[in-house]
Order: sequence, then C-alpha cells, then structure tokens
Amino acid sequence: MSEKLLLIGGGHAHLSLLKKMKKNQLPNCEVTLLNPTSKYYYSGMFSGYVEGIYALEDLEINLASLCERAGVQFIEGTAMSVDAKQKMVLTEKGDILSFDVLSFDIGTRRKSMEELPESDSIYHLNRKEQIQELGTDESRRGEVVIIGGGAAGIELGFSIQSWKKKQGDDGNVSIISSSPIYGESEDDRCKKQLKEKLIGAGVVLRENERVEEVRDREVVVGSESVPYDALLWMTGSEAPKLYKSSKLPTDDEGYLLVEDTLQVKEYPFIFGSGNGVTVRQYPEIPRNGVMAVRQGEVLWDNLEGFLGSGEGYHFKPQKRYLTILSTGSRHGYLRYGSFCTAGKLAWKMKNKIDQKFMSTFK
Ligand SMILES: Cc1cc2nc3c(=O)[nH]c(=O)nc-3n(C[C@H](O)[C@H](O)[C@H](O)COP(=O)(O)OP(=O)(O)OC[C@H]3O[C@@H](n4cnc5c(N)ncnc54)[C@H](O)[C@@H]3O)c2cc1C
Repeated sequence: MSEKLLLIGGGHAHLSLLKKMKKNQLPNCEVTLLNPTSKYYYSGMFSGYVEGIYALEDLEINLASLCERAGVQFIEGTAMSVDAKQKMVLTEKGDILSFDVLSFDIGTRRKSMEELPESDSIYHLNRKEQIQELGTDESRRGEVVIIGGGAAGIELGFSIQSWKKKQGDDGNVSIISSSPIYGESEDDRCKKQLKEKLIGAGVVLRENERVEEVRDREVVVGSESVPYDALLWMTGSEAPKLYKSSKLPTDDEGYLLVEDTLQVKEYPFIFGSGNGVTVRQYPEIPRNGVMAVRQGEVLWDNLEGFLGSGEGYHFKPQKRYLTILSTGSRHGYLRYGSFCTAGKLAWKMKNKIDQKFMSTFK
C-alpha cells in the first residue's frame, strides 16, 4: 500500500521539492500539498514589482498547476491543528487530512501583527491581495512609512522612492527601525555603504526609534506622531502559532525544532524546513529564502530515503552566500561574505538569477 505524504505550506523548500517531482517521483507515495492559496508570489521580485519593473504575473507561481505537473494533489486550505499521534491535520474549513509522513514549510509571521488596527492603508504582505495592492498608487503615493529596517524594508524603501522619482510624487519615504538598519551584526563597511545609498536616494532613516502605537493614518514614535498615507509593516519575523498550539517540539521562540536531517526527533515521520523551523545543530542560521531553498534539496533526499531505503543526509548551512538587494532604478547592492559592491551589474545579476528561478516553474 502506498504511503500518504502531506506537504503543509508551499514555501521555498516545498517549491524546490515540487520542481524535483516534475521529473522524479518519490517511491511508493501519494503526495498532497495544502496551501491557503493556489498562487504564490516570489518575494525576490516584490521590489521590482512595486517599482513598476515587473508585472504581477512575472512573480506569480501557480501552485495548483505546478502540482498537477508534478503528480501531486493540491488542496486550498490552512492547517489549523496537527495531531502528531493520530497523524491527522485539521484545516480551517473543518476538513481532516490523514498522513503517514508530514512535511512543514509554512514560513513565519510578521512580528506584532496583532497591534495593527484594521486599515486599508496598512500593508504587511501576509495576505495575497496585499502583494497585488503594493503595485497600486494608494500604497506608493504621499507619505510612505516603512516599519522595519531589515532587507525587505530596505528594498521596498528604495523601490518606492525610485517609483516616486519617476512619477514626480513629492511625498517622503521613511524607514523607522528600533535597531540599526540591516541588522546589528552586519559588516560595518557594507552597512555604511548601504545606509549612504538610502540617504542619497532621499529615504528618511530613523534608526533606533521604537514605534509605540499604530493608529489609522499615524504612528506614534516616542512622543511624536508621524502621519502616513501608506504604512508598510516590515518588522522582523516570529514563529507561526501552529507548532505550539499543536504541542509539537519547538525552540524557546516557538519555531519547530528539527534535527539536521530536517526531522522532528520525537516524530521522525514529521519533517520541517524553511524559515519556520530551527535546526537544533545550527540555531543561528539566518531566516531567508536562500536557506529555505537549500533546505529543500536536503528535504528531497531525506524524504526519498525515509520512504525508500531509510537513508538520510544532514543539512549543513553554507558559511557564505550571495545576497543581492535591489536599490532602485535597475541598480543593486551585492554581498558575499564581507565583500560588497553596488551598481548596475549587481541588479543585472539579480534579475538574471530571479528570472531563471521563475522560469523553472513555468
Ligand atoms: C519584500 C521582501 C523581499 C525579500 N527578498 C528576499 C531576497 O531577495 N532573498 C531572500 O533570500 N529572501 C528574501 N525575502 C525573504 C523570503 O521571502 C523568505 O525568507 C522566504 O519566503 C521564506 O521561505 P519559506 O519557505 O520559509 O516560507 P514562505 O515563502 O513564507 O512560504 C510559506 C507558505 O506556507 C503557507 N502557509 C502558512 N501557514 C500555513 C498553514 N497553517 N497551512 C498551510 N499553509 C500555510 C503560506 O501561505 C506560504 O505560501 C524577502 C521578503 C520580503 C517580504
């Protein structure tokens, strides 16, 4: 009898699994993917979309048709609870899905989302429609305030500023960050270069300032009220609630705890990958798309091993990896370890890598 493999979440690691399955089948196995939407938007190209370089279709991956081509059943839905002992998953529609082997790749949530009021002017990108809306004038015109000075906030700051320049919109783009931009631990020389570029582009930087409260159309920073026409909530990430509420083993912050084989120690038939897990042997690895894709490769080998011969491989994160941020107007900022450079060539490389990545899903 064949085994049931249930994939929860169509994140970067599961995408690379589906790509493999277009050519190779896992042994003796019926595979299902559960994801809240049938469309997935590739974050590496968000900034280019916001700036008007790419159309929405350029960053869209159709999960339902990718699954069809990979011989995988696609179910639109969200996992609400997992019973590891009974091997059952409950979805938000009340459906119960059974499995023999389970794999999570559900990413993370934006920090402190519950502090946000209901408002059409606040964008956090956790919902698919919000990604579409980022390409509309409402999200880019007038005073745009971005909360969060990580890679996502910085890229969006550059791209909206660049869009404003092309459109002749004289509103400001401000980035407010409770810590220095681009993380505390980034190399100083590279960070300095990036900061100078942001200021040079006209982005208002407010580092080490904490947002006390978010209201409709204004944020309170210290004792000052900062008005906005659009607010982009690009704070750091936090663990999805599903793991803790399902009583699965987690680290102190609620991320699913897996071994370097990407398996949960207590339940070896449960795998986890992507930004929503902590690998016990490497708790410090950065949570980004590059790492999630890399884990996808090990995940394939280990699922194949688990379902077949029982053999597995160990995940070893790269020490250095390439990051390219878009800095607007088809320029980029490239980092590899402590090396960094900026200019047109960096953007061309990013564009080529992103287009190649997307072409593998067509
Ligand atoms: C503007 C922006 C730019 C970025 N640029 C880059 C970049 O250039 N390079 C880079 O490396 N990283 C970049 N990132 C970060 C990158 O997007 C993430 O690191 C990456 O998407 C994480 O991948 P993942 O596989 O963990 O999960 P995700 O890609 O977050 O996917 C998780 C999936 O699981 C689904 N899901 C969630 N909960 C459930 C549930 N309960 N049931 C079923 N499905 C569920 C979600 O809907 C989603 O489809 C950027 C992020 C942003 C916001």
